[in-house]
Amino acid sequence: MTRTLTLQAIEPVTHDTHHLTFGRPEGFTFQPGQAVELALLQDGWKDEGRPFTMVSQPDAPSLEFVIKSYPDHNGVTARIPSLGTGDQVACDGPFGAITDHGPGVFLAAGAGITPFISILKKHDREGVTGDTLIFSNKTDKDIILKETWGSLPGVTSVFVVTDQPDTAHHSGELDKTKLSELVSDHDQPFYICGPQGFVDAMRDALKEMGISEDRLVIEDGW
Ligand SMILES: Cc1cc2nc3c(=O)[nH]c(=O)nc-3n(C[C@H](O)[C@H](O)[C@H](O)COP(=O)(O)OP(=O)(O)OC[C@H]3O[C@@H](n4cnc5c(N)ncnc54)[C@H](O)[C@@H]3O)c2cc1C
Repeated sequence: MTRTLTLQAIEPVTHDTHHLTFGRPEGFTFQPGQAVELALLQDGWKDEGRPFTMVSQPDAPSLEFVIKSYPDHNGVTARIPSLGTGDQVACDGPFGAITDHGPGVFLAAGAGITPFISILKKHDREGVTGDTLIFSNKTDKDIILKETWGSLPGVTSVFVVTDQPDTAHHSGELDKTKLSELVSDHDQPFYICGPQGFVDAMRDALKEMGISEDRLVIEDGW
């Protein structure tokens, strides 16, 4: 079933990422971590649906998204910064492989953080503790909602920065050696989301660490 959403607010989150708030259509339900396909209701773009993840809670009156723009793709996300209040999008779904399996290790790269925004906020609301967020980005300025992660008492946050040698955070690629330093408990859910290269590298590293495949909660195909 296709629904029409109307944009209520749009604001920057980082230099290339925006937070969008839409009215929530009646009867629309989803689980934290799930996504929908959004298509801009503009000439030439109505058939260009792309997947984006709800970052709001299922019982909130609004549907919220955090969307990173890729100007060089010249696609849907390049048009996000020019959207304004009252613009409409078509919305299909929900769907998505990542849902809440309880406290665990959340491995995210870039906009791959989005399914974990609503899951970790849900855990915060429920008083769940023991979550570890390991969040990889190219540079410090790419870290989405950095202050939020530091403010959640149940979450230990580790930021990894790959392309900025003078970062104050962990510098370099996230690999088996670094993961082994950061994670000692192997018997918990490991959530992975981000570009496919990141997902594959994390899956391989966790396998090498002896973590069982059935502990992995993965969104492939970003
Ligand atoms: C389940 C799921 C949930 C997601 N949730 C979110 C979310 O909440 N927030 C978010 O920000 N993202 C999310 N994503 C990723 C998001 O869907 C993509 O970033 C988005 O589809 C990109 O759309 P686009 O039209 O801008 O570019 P694309 O559709 O990727 O590309 C448009 C065109 O650009 C060209 N192109 C592709 N790659 C490159 C490149 N590297 N360099 C130059 N040109 C290129 C190709 O010709 C392509 O046809 C999610 C993805 C999935 C699978």
